[in-house]
Amino acid sequence: MTVLAKGALDEGSTAWAQGGIAAVLEPGDTFDHHVEDTMVAGAGLNDRGVVEFVVSRAPAAIERLRALGVPFAEEGGALHLTREGGHSHRRIVHVADATGWAVQEALQRAAEAHPNITLIPHQVAIDLATSRHEARYSGAGNVWGVYAVDRRTGAVNLHTARATVLATGGAGRTYLFSTAPAGATGDGIAMAWRAGARVANMEMMQFHPTCLYDLRLKNFLVTEAVRGEGGRLVNPATGKRFMESYDPERLELAPRDVVARAIDAEIKRYGLDYVHLDISHMPADFVRAHFPTIHEKLLGLGIDMTTGPIPVVPAQHYTCGGIVVDRDGRTDLPGLYAAGECTSSGLHGANRLASNSLLECFVFGEAVADHIAGAWDALPPVPAIRPWDESRVTDSDEEVVIKQNWTEIRRFMWNYVGIVRTTKRLQRAASRIRLMTDEVADYYGHFRVTPDLIELRNLLQVAELIVRSALHRHESRGLHYTLDWPDTLASPRDTVLVP
Ligand SMILES: Cc1cc2nc3c(=O)[nH]c(=O)nc-3n(C[C@H](O)[C@H](O)[C@H](O)COP(=O)(O)OP(=O)(O)OC[C@H]3O[C@@H](n4cnc5c(N)ncnc54)[C@H](O)[C@@H]3O)c2cc1C
Repeated sequence: MTVLAKGALDEGSTAWAQGGIAAVLEPGDTFDHHVEDTMVAGAGLNDRGVVEFVVSRAPAAIERLRALGVPFAEEGGALHLTREGGHSHRRIVHVADATGWAVQEALQRAAEAHPNITLIPHQVAIDLATSRHEARYSGAGNVWGVYAVDRRTGAVNLHTARATVLATGGAGRTYLFSTAPAGATGDGIAMAWRAGARVANMEMMQFHPTCLYDLRLKNFLVTEAVRGEGGRLVNPATGKRFMESYDPERLELAPRDVVARAIDAEIKRYGLDYVHLDISHMPADFVRAHFPTIHEKLLGLGIDMTTGPIPVVPAQHYTCGGIVVDRDGRTDLPGLYAAGECTSSGLHGANRLASNSLLECFVFGEAVADHIAGAWDALPPVPAIRPWDESRVTDSDEEVVIKQNWTEIRRFMWNYVGIVRTTKRLQRAASRIRLMTDEVADYYGHFRVTPDLIELRNLLQVAELIVRSALHRHESRGLHYTLDWPDTLASPRDTVLVP
């Protein structure tokens, strides 16, 4: 097995996850409760069968990670569980506030030690190799691997495979403010779409309510767990704990979309740059013990969360929609699988419940592996595939085009396709995308591919899918909130786009 990554192996979102992984482990908690919490957060758009599938496999997934050496926090001999917004029980296993990093380290160590796994970083996949690239066209529609550019040499290599798995993460960088790493440009979603796979629910873009407001550092997330452990949201202009006016029962533990919209409303109403997240009323030792990474990072920026509030703003955080997959992680295309944030599996519906996303990666990662192993002998061998053709392109002399378009996309997506939408704003975004599509296609057709150009092309493609999906949905549900269709329709329906 060969694993490609477009940068270093640990540059995905996984290593950045702070909070933890959800699983039913507390006495008194049940799979039914976890299923119900997931369905409530997902505003009923979830596929209940898939939710049950994932939730019931969560405890075993945690055990597998422990066996691989992930040092989950314990208390009195049992796993320590925290509680996060939208969860009716303490359910989140964690490694202090750096869970993702611990998981990444353990998985990478295991992969490096495995004799059948070859890890190749710094390979930016450009497109899937499909039947269209066969030396003798078969018309079967299979996927046979990827073409990828080597970041260090600029050479484009063909990596063929009987089975190809996209685990390329989300598309957060379509937005100006995002907690996701720089590489979250929706490459896998765009590649699958171009190759002919359906994508679903791309309008369901989650905004994390509490990203640190700091103009030097635009993507530092302050985990949900700070609210879970007692943190309060306060309007710095009025000094008032404002969630009382938006969700008096659940307050700061309301689902993310509710909290993000409340902060957005306060910021817009009072002309603020940020609101305050305050946990300084809790004992300083407690805060330091629960949030060592955040505490230290903030101290470096001159903020002491044990004595005063943290300035926060909402930022794009999670891509709920993506490539349509079944319970084995199979896409529409023979030989192509997908898992994790690049998919629309049916788990999240219209909004992801906190800490269900890493869980989805582990459950579907295993399902994909099992399916490929079981089907291996029946998978057809790879035919001859044409090498990448660079005969008609030259080196770019106008890199500024990339920078200009990149910034423009992220800005209009933020302003027109953000937390609160209208049809007019979506149409404005759509017309800008149309203009830019010709320019980027022209550029792509004439110049040698570079990582920046690949990402720009994908970013634009994904922006188009998000806007098109948002225009399709004539209701407000979960993360999709539009002033023109404020009501929720009686029966939930996926937005499925067919290439
Ligand atoms: C700050 C932050 C905190 C989070 N906290 C939590 C949490 O507490 N709990 C939780 O459940 N979830 C959390 N999430 C969400 C969760 O981390 C992600 O949903 C999950 O890690 C996604 O994993 P993935 O394997 O799908 O993608 P990633 O981990 O993002 O990996 C994507 C991989 O694909 C590679 N790739 C992408 N494009 C290409 C290309 N063109 N060519 C080659 N390789 C490519 C990248 O190099 C990378 O290695 C958090 C996310 C963020 C950003």
